[in-house]
Amino acid sequence: MTAVDTLRALLPDGRVLTDVDVVESYRRDEARLVEPGRPLGVVLAHDVSDVQATMRWATEHRVPVVPRGAGSGLSGGASAIEGGIVLSLAKMAAIVEINPDDQLAVVEPGVINARLQDAAAEHGLMYAPDPASFDISTIGGNIATNAGGLRCVKYGVTRESVLGLEVVLADGRLLKTGHRTVKGVAGYDLTALFVGSEGTLGVVTQATVRLRPQPQTDPVTIVGVFATLPAAGDAVNDVMRAGLQPSLLELIDNATIRAVDDWKHVGLDQSAAAMLIAQVDVDHPREPALAIEKAFVAAGATYTAVSSDATEAAELLGVRRMTHWAIERLGMILTEDVGVPRSRLTEMLARIEQIGREFDVVIATVGHAGDGNLHPSIVIDSDQGWRAAEAVYTAALELGGTITGEHGIGTLKRDWLPAELGAVGMQVHHAVKAAFDPLGILNPGKAI
Ligand SMILES: Cc1cc2nc3c(=O)[nH]c(=O)nc-3n(C[C@H](O)[C@H](O)[C@H](O)COP(=O)(O)OP(=O)(O)OC[C@H]3O[C@@H](n4cnc5c(N)ncnc54)[C@H](O)[C@@H]3O)c2cc1C
Repeated sequence: MTAVDTLRALLPDGRVLTDVDVVESYRRDEARLVEPGRPLGVVLAHDVSDVQATMRWATEHRVPVVPRGAGSGLSGGASAIEGGIVLSLAKMAAIVEINPDDQLAVVEPGVINARLQDAAAEHGLMYAPDPASFDISTIGGNIATNAGGLRCVKYGVTRESVLGLEVVLADGRLLKTGHRTVKGVAGYDLTALFVGSEGTLGVVTQATVRLRPQPQTDPVTIVGVFATLPAAGDAVNDVMRAGLQPSLLELIDNATIRAVDDWKHVGLDQSAAAMLIAQVDVDHPREPALAIEKAFVAAGATYTAVSSDATEAAELLGVRRMTHWAIERLGMILTEDVGVPRSRLTEMLARIEQIGREFDVVIATVGHAGDGNLHPSIVIDSDQGWRAAEAVYTAALELGGTITGEHGIGTLKRDWLPAELGAVGMQVHHAVKAAFDPLGILNPGKAI
């Protein structure tokens, strides 16, 4: 009897998949540059007892386990490990509770972000974190990566919306963290520790998340077109410094504008160096929207528009959300995810342009500019591409920033992590990992 046979015997029928074609479809995430290993099989967990049984078995047999949501990750966090098991949480997709009085929801990890948003909206509430992958990615994956998104500039990243978790530990024990109350400081903040831990400390099987009242009016959208990338960076700075509090503030550069327009022919200005899309979702949005437009003009915008038309806004956000797929058509892409203090955004944009020229590589940049979070996507068709990637990480760190604002380290960025965390930071991370996962079976080789 093989180890997988013993696992199959422990779980209800149909939970363990070993068919080669099926397993193949669970090997990769969206980090196409990461070459995954060949796993022994895939477990489709239907409830927490399936997850516990899998982890007890993995502990007994010393088999690595890769938790997986939708596989939309961009860092290789969910890519399969040779001889391991992929533990899919996608079937655990129940919205257990929406509680309008306490403004919270209790959900299983496989719930797609957009489904939770729709369910919350039926109660006049919203779940704020909205990664551009919101219609495919899961809440479990969002929690494990501490996902950001478009609205984070106003409402914060996933961590700000997670109140408590149920987590299966490496040995199969069930841990509950956090609370349903507005406040709660009993014990260490284990909830925050698990958020962003990329499946290396435990498997999230349930989450209690914060909901907020939905804005009462449709947002007003402001678009600005710029002749240089740094001018767009200045405009972002000016908007944020003035405290205008947009509910999103996104940047799309020229290479991305062209990639989208060549693909979808949406009529974007292909000569623009950059485009900014902002929204305001307060009760009386017109005045702050016009103030944002004024800031765009003052920073050098060559064209601006303000619109309260919901269809137009949806189309523009659609353009922003399709940028990843449009850029992917340019070749093999490394999507970086650097963040800098907002005051250094203009410098970072200039450095990215200079790096593109210096290494003679195509870099297409989009970003949650209001957060100082940029995704320069580098076409990796030679060693120069990797050198350019290294130069972008170095520039971000030199400007006081980070090598990953929201996508996580996964396997792709591990080599650069010590440069950001330092020797003591790395030691503490390894000590935390050892405390939760002494045998090193939870997503080994990822995140740290
Ligand atoms: C088009 C596109 C746009 C994107 N836009 C954004 C964006 O705006 N902001 C952003 O932050 N990200 C974005 N991403 C990246 C990605 O969607 C996020 O990282 C997302 O949170 C991953 O969710 P997932 O369900 O696909 O997780 P997966 O990719 O399956 O897994 C991601 C990580 O979480 C772990 N994991 C998954 N589920 C669990 C669980 N239940 N318990 C423990 N660990 C678990 C995995 O092991 C892995 O390390 C984008 C990706 C694409 C393709």
